[in-house]
Amino acid sequence: MASSCTKYELRCNECGKSYGNRPLSACPDCLAPLEVQYDLESVRGRFTRESIAAGPANIWRYKELLPIPEGFQPDLPVGFTPLVRAKNLGKRIGADNLYVKNDAVCFPTLSFKDRVVSVALANAQAFGFTTVGCSSTGNLANSTAAQAARLGLKACILVPADLEAAKILNTQVYGARLVRIDGNYDHVNRLCTLIADEYNWGFVNVNLRPYYAEGSKTVGYEIAEQLGWRLPDNIVCPMAGGSLIRKIRKAFKELIALGLVEPKEVRFFGAQATGCSPIAHAVKNGWDYIEPQRPNTIARSLAIGNPADGPAAAKMIQETGGWAEDVSDVELVSGIQELAEDEGIFTETAGGVTTAVAARLYSQGRIGRDDLTVVCITGNGLKTTDALEDCFAAERSVKPKLAAFDEYIRAVDGQLIGADVEPVLAGGAR
Ligand SMILES: *Cc1c(COP(=O)(O)O)cnc(C)c1O
Ligand SMILES: [Zn+2]
Repeated sequence: MASSCTKYELRCNECGKSYGNRPLSACPDCLAPLEVQYDLESVRGRFTRESIAAGPANIWRYKELLPIPEGFQPDLPVGFTPLVRAKNLGKRIGADNLYVKNDAVCFPTLSFKDRVVSVALANAQAFGFTTVGCSSTGNLANSTAAQAARLGLKACILVPADLEAAKILNTQVYGARLVRIDGNYDHVNRLCTLIADEYNWGFVNVNLRPYYAEGSKTVGYEIAEQLGWRLPDNIVCPMAGGSLIRKIRKAFKELIALGLVEPKEVRFFGAQATGCSPIAHAVKNGWDYIEPQRPNTIARSLAIGNPADGPAAAKMIQETGGWAEDVSDVELVSGIQELAEDEGIFTETAGGVTTAVAARLYSQGRIGRDDLTVVCITGNGLKTTDALEDCFAAERSVKPKLAAFDEYIRAVDGQLIGADVEPVLAGGAR
């Protein structure tokens, strides 16, 4: 009987050298990132539309193409988030065929990072780590803390000292050790590289990064399946380290190679905040390298000034005929409000960036009105309510009397009273 286990191993993107399976993120020879590569032939016949449909309604339905160690029993129902048609937002920005992939409601911690953490921690356990951690701009901290708690692993998590309060509390509540570092994400990440070696800890986005990154592919599998096993024309995706956007493309390529979807060159569009836009800057200049920046934006979850997968992401976007754009903090706040007002989806600052960038790409004509476009919303607005602090005036309170309400509502929002209600009010009953 053929083994039911998918064959995979780490390989260097630059020199092609193989490293088997171990906690290692960069090629010791050329320092390029390592990536998990599969023997797709070992999967053919076992990874079909039917076998997937028979799986659970979460990311583990795609486990044949995830780097899952032998004997791993999937536990948490992570992912399989809604793909929703966005007609109202489409009308606003001139898009007739627009969809939102809504990872603002991902299980268990309301961001797409739940996908990467579940794959990373499966490997952390297999490698024998008893303490895990991460360097994080917030969402990864939340997810690592939550899933480590569930698995009975100890967790030590490092974040920039000035992170949003909600993201700090959303990490501590799970009992993880949270360490605030005086510095930005890039300082935190460098420190974690040293700690991982010194303490023999499993850092999901440092020494376990190649496995972590594969979890992002599930966004791509889900989009294709939810579109009825079709690929979209365009993907609009936020970028921090530049990993997610590349892995969605890897997912599409694997589906094409295995015959689950028709071949198609999907164009990829990257979104960043202007205050930290090293990848968008590289794309606009036609570079395949990154000029590091010092982050200064309220889009904290995207604030990585020297992104590990930035060069590869910039190159990939250009290869697909896509583009990258960046928007100001003021524009991203409008993006949050527009997505909420149009589609009833409350996203965090990163989603505001993605929404505002999508609008700009349509207005620039880089995306055609009739194109099938999927906008990736990656995090939940309840974690970054600070961003909207100045948007809404404090409302005065009203006495519990109909007359008081009537006076109030006419003063602040006469439009709210429809023509059909008018006679009733006029008729008395006060
Ligand atoms: C981490 C993160 C991203 C970007 O992920 P990369 O793979 O590092 O590019 C996007 N959105 C949110 C909300 C995130 O937390
Ligand atoms: Zn190499």
